[in-house]
Amino acid sequence: MARNKLKILIAGGGIGGITALLALRQRGIEAELFEQAEAFRQVGAGLQVSNNATRVLRTLGLGDALARVTYYPEGRDYRAWDTGDRLYYTPLGQRAEARFGAPYYTSHRADLLDVLLGGLGREGFRLGARIERFEQNADSVTVTLADGGTATGDILIGADGIHSTVRGQMFGKELPRYTGNVAWRGLVPAERVAHLDVAKVTGVWMGPNRSIVQYYVAAGRTFNWIGISRSEQPARESWLAEGRVEDALAEYSGWHDTIRTIIRETPKLLRQALYDREPLPDWQIGRVVLLGDAAHPMMPFYAQGAAQSIEDAYVLAGCLAASQDDPVAALSRYVKLRQPRTAWMQGLARREEELYQMTDAATIAERNARMRTNRIPESANFPPEQERLYGYDAEAVLHA
Ligand SMILES: Cc1cc2nc3c(=O)[nH]c(=O)nc-3n(C[C@H](O)[C@H](O)[C@H](O)COP(=O)(O)OP(=O)(O)OC[C@H]3O[C@@H](n4cnc5c(N)ncnc54)[C@H](O)[C@@H]3O)c2cc1C
Repeated sequence: MARNKLKILIAGGGIGGITALLALRQRGIEAELFEQAEAFRQVGAGLQVSNNATRVLRTLGLGDALARVTYYPEGRDYRAWDTGDRLYYTPLGQRAEARFGAPYYTSHRADLLDVLLGGLGREGFRLGARIERFEQNADSVTVTLADGGTATGDILIGADGIHSTVRGQMFGKELPRYTGNVAWRGLVPAERVAHLDVAKVTGVWMGPNRSIVQYYVAAGRTFNWIGISRSEQPARESWLAEGRVEDALAEYSGWHDTIRTIIRETPKLLRQALYDREPLPDWQIGRVVLLGDAAHPMMPFYAQGAAQSIEDAYVLAGCLAASQDDPVAALSRYVKLRQPRTAWMQGLARREEELYQMTDAATIAERNARMRTNRIPESANFPPEQERLYGYDAEAVLHA
């Protein structure tokens, strides 16, 4: 039973930080979140919210709200970039829900954020509150904000994203690694691509040096696509950098008509450089700990960055609730439970780049032949890495 004596400070109001606040509240633990922006950032494009993440969100009471604003893809198609041939298929939809005990959705980031904020209400956070630094002693941790104000608590969670200030103070201000890839992101009103008759699946199109992932969001009203392509020229790492349709068309020149039409119909494009980091062996120093992209930024090939931050948040809240007399030990337990899984994910996401974006024609032909032969029949089980990923039960992990 929670005794309401801990006070937790959270740096950052992204998906990870807000989920942490919700999960702590659910356990009866007081927390205050500090977000540097004047408003929560309702920007970005599509996100896949896989079963492992929706299981947590349901536990937090957000299942119905999430179901209303998201899309429920039937499966995942892997297709050849030029002919559009289906090379491989794995089921999602009912099959995945039955297997993993929670649904797999695709969502606009803003809709997911709205669902989280709906659970939050109006209290427990400060906007326009940038954390500049922290100091800790044997009993507490104090943050100093950009406006000179301070706040003191028992624990500080650094959920402040890939450029984390908290991480910088803990482990040095090392820059993230440019992955050599940029992402193109577009949202298209569904009626503008209806004539293409795109299947109700998450589609992965794999071509030389670049790929495209596409799916519906917003209960099917909007069509989302993400193109990832190799580029020597890092653009801004931001949700907000705008790209040009003609540049994206040039990038995807020679691609299947379906893809080129989708790009052409996109009213506004975002373009962002992709960064990640090597796995960090430990995320804790004393009363301070990291979560989400601050701890383990990863390439988006497995669509797991936000999902992992949601898992982190739930497990961290559970560890703190179970060890309120010794919150520092709770942080160590959290890191022990979470670091191996996210390090595995970071590695898997990097390796997936090789599969999606091969360079030469012979290797591509070989991969396509292999994928066709390995094709999973509708009745088969899920691939082992999907079992490990989507079958993760954050509540069960706390009791193992
Ligand atoms: C192209 C692309 C596609 C993706 N697709 C998927 C997907 O399909 N599924 C998925 O699960 N993930 C996906 N991701 C990953 C996902 O977007 C991120 O992993 C996730 O948003 C990280 O959440 P976070 O809360 O850790 O960090 P962030 O979302 O970066 O939030 C950090 C917050 O901290 C605030 N902040 C920063 N510094 C301070 C400070 N000093 N003081 C106070 N506040 C501060 C920031 O303003 C921000 O609001 C994708 C990423 C990319 C780039």
